[in-house]
Amino acid sequence: MINKLIHIFKLAWAYLIRKATVLSYPPYQYTIEPTNVCNFKCDFCPQSDPEHHKRRPTGQLTVENLELFLKKRKEVNPGNKNINFTLDGEPFINKNMIKFVEMATKEGLFSRFASNGSLINPEKADLLAEAGPFVASIDFASDKNIFETIRSKKDNYEKLLENLRYLIKKAGENKNINLEINDITTFAGVDPEKSLKKMKTLFGTDFPPNVRFTTRQFHNFCGHLDLKDKEKRYRLCPYPWTQMAVTQTGDSVPCCRDTSARSILGNVFEDDIMTVWNGLKYRQFRQNLIDKKPELNAACKDCDLPYSGGGSKWKPGYIYRSLLRR
Ligand code: SF4
Repeated sequence: MINKLIHIFKLAWAYLIRKATVLSYPPYQYTIEPTNVCNFKCDFCPQSDPEHHKRRPTGQLTVENLELFLKKRKEVNPGNKNINFTLDGEPFINKNMIKFVEMATKEGLFSRFASNGSLINPEKADLLAEAGPFVASIDFASDKNIFETIRSKKDNYEKLLENLRYLIKKAGENKNINLEINDITTFAGVDPEKSLKKMKTLFGTDFPPNVRFTTRQFHNFCGHLDLKDKEKRYRLCPYPWTQMAVTQTGDSVPCCRDTSARSILGNVFEDDIMTVWNGLKYRQFRQNLIDKKPELNAACKDCDLPYSGGGSKWKPGYIYRSLLRR
């Protein structure tokens, strides 16, 4: 706990007070990508762009490279004990995904991942529950037609419904499983409250406390959303001060929104985490945000986060949920 508090103090000091570009602490949160391949082509995701894999050739994270990454992470000893297995792609396309959760558990880490859920069949769900504690964030929809239109995928709705019903039942028996089931119908302009209620009824009426239902908020990481009056609402994005996202090839990108790896700031399979974190590219990236020039960062050019409402995100609820809880 002391290590965690010291880490958070240094982070808050550098981000909120000093606006430093060279940091005395390592990244607090880590995301590593199991694969950049997906079996869906959702409208809201860069995977639906036919040019996407010309820019980012497809590949898989290997067990050896995850081992290497976990070793480097341990060397810098961050206060946070979460590891996020999500960036681009569907994590369960990688045949080693359950092993990755097992490896993280052995290191004393708590795994998180976003998945489309189509490959987590009951057999895999059983194995996953044995691998260690995790939070899975899975998108679903109250309406089959909307789901199939947004996700450009026919005949998957019922299969996913079946997988989710099994996972929810299993979560009632095994506390390793924590689920966030997100309704994506808002992408089609549907009333979020009504739709969320309708979606829940597909799964029953009584749910264990480790199962949550939410409405998915869409970010502008693909450059699809309208950004009117954006200058008035500028706020400094915290991610380059808090987290590091790593592709399956070890490239370090500034945040989990840069799924297209538009801003590669170093490679943590080749260099130490601190060397990359305080390297010239990371420092310049932070400086551009401090100067209110996110458009100079390839990743931030189309991102709505710096303009998403003014004020600080560092409210007590955010600090507890994101920094202190685990
Ligand atoms: S502004 Fe957007 S793209 Fe840039 S670091 Fe922040 S969240 Fe990532």
